Amino acid sequence: MSATAADSASDSRPGAVPAPTETFASLAPRTGAELGRYPVHGDVHVRAAVDAAAEAAAWWGGLSFRERRTRLVAWRKVLAGQLDRVARVVADETGKPFDDARLEVVLVIDHLDWATANAEKVLGRRSVSPGLLMANQAASVAYRPFGVVGVIGPWNYPVFTPMGSIAYALAAGNTVVFKPSELTPGVGHELARTLAEAVPEVGRYPLLSVVTGFGATGAALCTAPGVAKIAFTGSAPTGRKVMAACAENLVPVLMECGGKDALIVDADADLEAAADAAVWGGMSNAGQTCVGVERVYVADAVADRFVARVRELGAALQVGTAANEGDLGPMTMSSQTDVVRRHVTDALERGGRAVLGGADSVRDDGRIDPVVIVDVPEDSVAVTEETFGPLVVINRVPDVDEAVRRANATGYGLGATVFSAKRGEEIAARLRCGMVSINGVISFAGIPSLPFGGVGESGFGRIHGADGLREFTRAQSVARLRFPIPLVVTSVKRTSRTMSTLVGLVRARYGR
Ligand code: NAD
Repeated sequence: MSATAADSASDSRPGAVPAPTETFASLAPRTGAELGRYPVHGDVHVRAAVDAAAEAAAWWGGLSFRERRTRLVAWRKVLAGQLDRVARVVADETGKPFDDARLEVVLVIDHLDWATANAEKVLGRRSVSPGLLMANQAASVAYRPFGVVGVIGPWNYPVFTPMGSIAYALAAGNTVVFKPSELTPGVGHELARTLAEAVPEVGRYPLLSVVTGFGATGAALCTAPGVAKIAFTGSAPTGRKVMAACAENLVPVLMECGGKDALIVDADADLEAAADAAVWGGMSNAGQTCVGVERVYVADAVADRFVARVRELGAALQVGTAANEGDLGPMTMSSQTDVVRRHVTDALERGGRAVLGGADSVRDDGRIDPVVIVDVPEDSVAVTEETFGPLVVINRVPDVDEAVRRANATGYGLGATVFSAKRGEEIAARLRCGMVSINGVISFAGIPSLPFGGVGESGFGRIHGADGLREFTRAQSVARLRFPIPLVVTSVKRTSRTMSTLVGLVRARYGR
C-alpha cells in the first residue's frame, strides 16, 4: 500500500495526527481471498489530507497549463506502461474479467489525455465582447481552479468513474483528495502510486491523496474545512446525504448517481446490432453499470425476432467461477444479489415471462446467470428501480412514440440507447436524459469530448469534455478600462445629462 497524505500526516512529526487504529479488508469477490488491509481514516486524517492538498494546490494552481500538462502526460505514460498492473487490481477487487478491467483503464488513459490536451483551450483567459454600455472596456473571462476537490467514488468502475473527476480536476489546476469505495480501496492507491511515480514533486505536494474507509470517511471529506468542491459518484440515497453535508459550508457538489437506462428498438433497426447492444449493455460487468441497459422497448413488428436473438446471445455468456473468470464476474457487492433476486421475482410474479434464466439464475454466492424477462408490468420494481445486475426487461410497444413515453417515465435520467435506421437523432432529442447512443451502446462514455452526467435522480453537473473541465473551476470575469469616455455611469460625478444621453442611446438601439 503506498503512502498517502493522511498516512504521512500520522507519522511522528510534531503536531502530527495519530495513525488510524482501525483497518478493513479488501476482498476478492470471485475467490473470497483477502487482497489487502487499509486504514479507516477518521475526521483528523481526512482533515490532514485536505490541509496537505491545500498546500499542494497553491503550487499546482500556480503552474502554467503547459507545466501541468507535462506532468500529467508523464502520468499518462506511466499508466499506459502499467496498464495491465492497474487493471489486475481493478479485476481482483471488483471480480470483473481482466479484459473488462483493461478496457476501463484504456478509457481512463484516453480521458486523461483529452483533459490535459484541452485544459488551456477550454479554461484559459479569453476575450469577450464588452457590449454597448461598456464599449471602452476590455472584457475577459478565465476559469480558475477551486483549490481542493474531494472525490468520492463507487466500486463498479472504480478507476474510470472517479478519473472522470480526478483527471479533469487536476488538469484544471486543482488537487484532489480521493475516497474510493470501501470495496475497491486498492484501486485508489494504484492511482496515487502511479501519479507519484510520474511526478517527482508529489512527494512534497500531494496532488492526489487517498483516504480510505466507509461512509463516515466520505462524510468527513464533505465537511473538512478547505474542501472547495465535492464530486460524488454513487447511489442517489447516498448522494442526498452528501448534498446535505455539503450544505453546511455551501460546498458545491457534482452528483453522478444511478440510472434505469432504456434501449429503444425501432421497427427499421438493425436487429442483430440492437440485440448485441442489449446483451452487452445489460450484462457486461454483470449488469453493474450506471449507464447499462436495464429496460428495452421494442417495436411490436420486430419484437419476436429481436427477443429470440437476445436470448441466443445472452445464453452464450458464462458466469465465472473462482478458477475461471468467464464472461461475467459475480456481484461485486454481495448485498446486491438480494436486490437482483427481488427484481427477478417481482417481475415473474407480476406476469413477466422469462425467456432466459429465471429466479434460479440468482445464486446465493453472488454469481448470477443472465436473465431476460419480457412483458413486465411498468410498475414492477424491475422497471422502476435500478437493478444493477444481469437482468434485462424487454417490453413490446406499438410504436416509437410509446417507447419514448415509457423510457421517460422514470425519475432517473442518465443515458439511453436508440436503434433506428432513420430516426435516431429525432428520437434522441425527445429523451429526458443526459446522454444517448444511437446504433451503438454506451459509445458516449468513450468519447472524451462529450460531457457525461444525468438529470433528476441521476444527478447533475458533468464530467468529461469541456463541461467536465469547467465543472472544476470558477469563472472569473475581468473588465479593464481601455480608454476613458465622457459617458461615465459608474461614478459619483455622473450627471443627469449623462443619463439622458444614455437613455437616448438605448432607445435608439433597442427601442425599435
Ligand atoms: P454508494 O452510494 O453506496 O457509495 C458511493 C460512495 O459513497 C462510497 O465511496 C461510499 O463509501 C461513500 N459514502 C457512503 N455514505 C456516505 C456518506 N454519508 N457521505 C459521504 N460518502 C458516503 O454507491 P456504490 O454502491 O458504491 O455505487 C453504485 C451506485 O453508483 C449505483 O447507483 C450506480 O448507478 C452509481 N454510479 C453512477 C455513475 C455515474 O457516473 N452516474 C457511475 C458509476 C456508478
